[in-house]
Amino acid sequence: MAVVLVVEDDPFVRSALVRELTEFGHGVRSVGTALDALRDAVGNPPDIVLLDLGLPDLPGAQALRMLRGVRDVPVIIATAQDDDAEIVRLLNAGADDYLIKPFSGSQLNARVAAVLRRAGRSRPAEVLQIGDLRIDMPRREVTVRGELVHLTRREFDLLSYLAARPDEVVTRRELLAEVWHQAYGQDQTLDVHLSWLRRKLGETAQKPRYLHTVRGVGVRLSAPR
Ligand code: CA
Repeated sequence: MAVVLVVEDDPFVRSALVRELTEFGHGVRSVGTALDALRDAVGNPPDIVLLDLGLPDLPGAQALRMLRGVRDVPVIIATAQDDDAEIVRLLNAGADDYLIKPFSGSQLNARVAAVLRRAGRSRPAEVLQIGDLRIDMPRREVTVRGELVHLTRREFDLLSYLAARPDEVVTRRELLAEVWHQAYGQDQTLDVHLSWLRRKLGETAQKPRYLHTVRGVGVRLSAPR
């Protein structure tokens, strides 16, 4: 099962799309504007977005670009215009596939399945275990040696982002973009959260166990040796 975000302003079309996708076993969320789509994608990323190009608040190309800016999520564009040049332009701009309205439910589901397959979006691991650190993603629960660690939302997001990429140095820039959703920001923000997180995990910057700062580059999470 994948989570599909349907972005469509026409309520009749929208409910038909939601019905079709639900029948095919997907989890479906739906919004009617590009800005709501952005908000939704930032808050709780879907596995795939079905994006209507004729939205009331933003032109389709811009909506696509902004969506791409906040999330690396596959996007299928849905357009009422059979406009070759425009479709090619949007595919080049990062759309994964397109559908021309009106399309059938089976066509929609075939495209969604194909794009998900190409994107390799099987659901990410639900529980991450690194050393004696265990992160239960759906429950947003962290334990160390079985002891519950109370984290703020941001601390959890930071830790789980790093834990999903063990032994990989994640740049400060990437963390600011992916965890704080800022293109740029104060490095201090990251340092402060990192130091709180360290304290809660029972380590310090001088004596790291999990969280290793790579000076001038970023942070790496590894199992203690
Ligand atoms: Ca529309």
